[in-house]
Amino acid sequence: MPFTFDNTYARLPDAFFKRVAPTRVSAPAMIRLNHSLATELGIDAAGLDSLEGLAILSGNQQANGSDPLAMAYSGHQFGGFSPQLGDGRAILLGEVVGNDGIRRDIQLKGSGPTPFSRRGDGRSALGPVLREYLVSEAMAALGVPTTRALAAVASGDHVVREGMMPSGVFTRVAQSHIRIGTFQWFAARHDDDNLRVLADYVIARHYPAVQQEENPYLALLNQVIERQARLIAHWIQLGFIHGVMNTDNMTVSGETIDYGPCAFMDTYHPAKTFSSIDRDGRYAFGNQGPIGQWNLTRFAETLLPLLHTDQKKAITMAESSLDAFTDLHQSALHSRLTAKIGLEGGDTDDWNLVESLLQTMANGESDFTLVFRHLATVLDTGSDDEVTRQFNQPTEIVSWLKAWRTRLQDVDRDRTLDLMRRSNPIYIPRNHRIEEAIKAGNEGDFEPFHRLNHVLQQPFTERAESSEYEVPPAPDEVVHATFCGT
Ligand code: AMP
Ligand code: MG
Repeated sequence: MPFTFDNTYARLPDAFFKRVAPTRVSAPAMIRLNHSLATELGIDAAGLDSLEGLAILSGNQQANGSDPLAMAYSGHQFGGFSPQLGDGRAILLGEVVGNDGIRRDIQLKGSGPTPFSRRGDGRSALGPVLREYLVSEAMAALGVPTTRALAAVASGDHVVREGMMPSGVFTRVAQSHIRIGTFQWFAARHDDDNLRVLADYVIARHYPAVQQEENPYLALLNQVIERQARLIAHWIQLGFIHGVMNTDNMTVSGETIDYGPCAFMDTYHPAKTFSSIDRDGRYAFGNQGPIGQWNLTRFAETLLPLLHTDQKKAITMAESSLDAFTDLHQSALHSRLTAKIGLEGGDTDDWNLVESLLQTMANGESDFTLVFRHLATVLDTGSDDEVTRQFNQPTEIVSWLKAWRTRLQDVDRDRTLDLMRRSNPIYIPRNHRIEEAIKAGNEGDFEPFHRLNHVLQQPFTERAESSEYEVPPAPDEVVHATFCGT
């Protein structure tokens, strides 16, 4: 028995979900099973790496103790509210409690239609399966709170997308799949009783400490605000663009979720977007902080009936909590970005140095990852070449480097180098590499996928044999748009 399920969501009231079993696929084949994650979670990896395991992870066999269901949720998509979303192509198999005592969901994605599928087929093309596997595991290796990839399975079937494409089933692990949109589901239906059940459930599962607070629901709001403020700062540190920050794609646990049209930037620009459907740049790189706060405002609105019986008072409480987002986010951002240039506990002058570097990078059309990574080389070897080479023309960066060197005169060199190398990855899941892995995968060759996944497991450690993964795309390899997983 690979999983020892211990389900709690399935025991919540009926309004929370619809029971539904996965639909069979024709010819399942394991692409990758994440043994180390399985072991970390106390899941029997050897047991999963079997015909029975494959049958379970493809949706062809129901695991013992599984109580499969599709979760109900609503959401603001690109600013417009959709009351009726829910798991249209995902099925929660159940929950497991890891060696660390943390409860996690085991969910299949692309395992067939559910009562929430609307006109969708409930399936996933293989490309999005491979993309989510690579990017979510890269994020985990980079230290970012995220859902994880337990397995990717080829189904042997095809789906209609841009033509016929091979399809797959992805196994996602999350501290929970509860989203801001889950709260919106009940708020939109004025179902205050179930809203309270949900809030109590989230507190017990994710924030048990707030049970001691005078107003646990206000404390819950503050905790979610704090985790999201920090999470988004972490994305920005790494040049990550989520791409589809709808309220149904924002967890209350503070884990990154939904690797659809996401991307790591190559060339830096704050207005950068990749998502083919984000025409107005709502979810552009530099807009992620404000959008996070906008989403959290929608979350706070759902909690109003729980915050106080007097709605005016409830609004005042929510507003002051939401105001804190800006400071929390800015201070996380300042410490993460100043660390990238080797400075700890940065003051205003240090932050100005960061901002002028970013402006110089935008002007110089520089590679976000390589500029920061090679700053350590400047400090280490004294040579500017690797950094200045990243800029269209060197004048501006040369004078920035001069100012930076002056600032670094009185810092401990080894400590600074260490801080910079811990803050600036050398290997990120670059879009052209992901596309290469998907293209090969669609033709049945998973070697590029495995190689890329392997390199991304140690993103901060430079290795000579992986040097080809450092480099930005050649002009003809640049990926301009990424697509939702649908
Ligand atoms: P997402 O773009 O992943 O945030 O999904 C938005 C909504 O569309 C969610 O309710 C999904 O369950 C639903 N959805 C996306 N793709 C499909 C599909 N192939 N079949 C059914 N529902 C889908
Ligand atoms: Mg989603």
